[in-house]
Amino acid sequence: MTKKQQKFIFVTGGVISSLGKGIAAASIGNILENRGLTITFQKFDPYINIDPGTMNPFQHGEVYVTEDGTETDLDLGHYERFTNVSLSKLNNYTTGKIYYSVISKERRGDYLGNTIQVVPHITNEIKEKIVEIAKNVDVAIIEIGGTVGDIESLPFLEAIRQMRNDFGAENTIYIHLTYVPYIQSADELKTKPTQHSVKQLREIGIQPDILLCRTEKEISKEMKEKISLFCNVPVDAVITARDVPSIYEVPLIFHHEGLDDKIIELLNIWTRKPEFKEWTALLERIKNPQGNVTIGIVGKYVDLKESYKSLSEALFHGGIAHNVKVKLEYIDATLLEKNKGINKLKKADGILVPGGFGDRGIDGKIKAIKYAREHRIPYFGICLGMQLAVIEIARNVCKLKNASSTEFNPRCEYNVIDLMEEQKEVKDLGGSMRLGAYPCKILKNSKAYEAYEDEMISERHRHRYEFNNKFKDDFTKHGVLFSGRYVQRNLVEIIELEDHPFFLACQFHPELKSKPLNPHPLFRTFIKASLEQKKALLTTNAPP
Ligand code: GLN
Repeated sequence: MTKKQQKFIFVTGGVISSLGKGIAAASIGNILENRGLTITFQKFDPYINIDPGTMNPFQHGEVYVTEDGTETDLDLGHYERFTNVSLSKLNNYTTGKIYYSVISKERRGDYLGNTIQVVPHITNEIKEKIVEIAKNVDVAIIEIGGTVGDIESLPFLEAIRQMRNDFGAENTIYIHLTYVPYIQSADELKTKPTQHSVKQLREIGIQPDILLCRTEKEISKEMKEKISLFCNVPVDAVITARDVPSIYEVPLIFHHEGLDDKIIELLNIWTRKPEFKEWTALLERIKNPQGNVTIGIVGKYVDLKESYKSLSEALFHGGIAHNVKVKLEYIDATLLEKNKGINKLKKADGILVPGGFGDRGIDGKIKAIKYAREHRIPYFGICLGMQLAVIEIARNVCKLKNASSTEFNPRCEYNVIDLMEEQKEVKDLGGSMRLGAYPCKILKNSKAYEAYEDEMISERHRHRYEFNNKFKDDFTKHGVLFSGRYVQRNLVEIIELEDHPFFLACQFHPELKSKPLNPHPLFRTFIKASLEQKKALLTTNAPP
């Protein structure tokens, strides 16, 4: 039997950052899956950190966690949401990881006698990772982080340049995402930035095969011809990537622009006819909501939507499940501490406290949780949001004065949230939390069971602290239901309040597994409860 030919799509970006390269790559995966191809993704991040795990969300945005517990770039979240792939540590490499691997080999003596250099040692290491990931799929989509022209991306670009020689033109294609700005004063789209970006790519030896032109307006045929001429790309490979209200529309835009046809022609690959029925139906639902619901997210990074990417998507998916639009109201926890922002809290049909680290803003979040509990507003707590719900209940229901987590007060008397034994031994902070997928047993007759309709589930984690089982009886006496447990270690995974329309909090991060075609059960039920809350309020406030 002949070995299957490996095929690669390399996605680069130019002109400016934040053009949506991750969504473009994810959409390419989506359209290829919809033609029956098996795919995977790999993202290379040019920074030197081993992973984004220890980076501030202001620097990096959300840290996405894979099943195997790797802390990765948020683009991997887009890849998983847009397609059926399941990713792992092999799907995200940073410069730091690549160098770490080369330096470890050097220390072991693997290169005895040689001077270790960027070319060929670093570039070979990068190529090995790419070849490895492409082993069992029809096409591997490789995204290079950063923008062409950055010093840091050069070894990655050099590695993918070499791959055309190694694998041939039919098996390697280069897709470049660029920007065609609209200049208001001239009432014109401008192609010059794209020309310069492609020129830079060509200087390092890469001639793009396809251009994705991010733009506000439709690009005319004449303009495509101009781009084609100056960038040396066939005109049918100049694709308009117009701004759209929903990111989930991008695959359909690409398909209508003929991107999948072009890719399979260049890769010389046979596929079935495109099948976009499910995705088109999804978009119809997104575009025609039958109402809306407002969710208040009480957090510390409210100005930085990128740090709650998976969360806002999962809430949006919860809305899709009920045909409603979910309006997100970000509420700054530090303002709540100063008694500001209460009005925003009052406007919310449901309140959510997401994950987080450190003690800034925690009193504001606890205030919001107390408000939700006392006013019987649906509450959904995630990770830190569960820990703070535990603290709120401990202080105000169980009357455990100043109860806290040892994360915020290492010497507190009522340490209702505490470090696990093995976490006490941890010296290096990178990659050492409870990370990745763990099984969880769900108690029947609980809200969690109503949502999952299953007794055994699995969810992803990213935290160090846990509920302190010493206090379990006290909480049970005060109406707390421990409805999810990691049996093997007897760790609390989900808590609920029995006498409340919806008060549920979990130690894991369910947002990481929600998809538009398959909204996560907990988000689905939280949105449902919030909708019921809204309806109840409308009836009470209705004129007689
Ligand atoms: N800071 C808490 C912990 O480490 C919660 C982490 C989180 O919300 N992801 O356990």
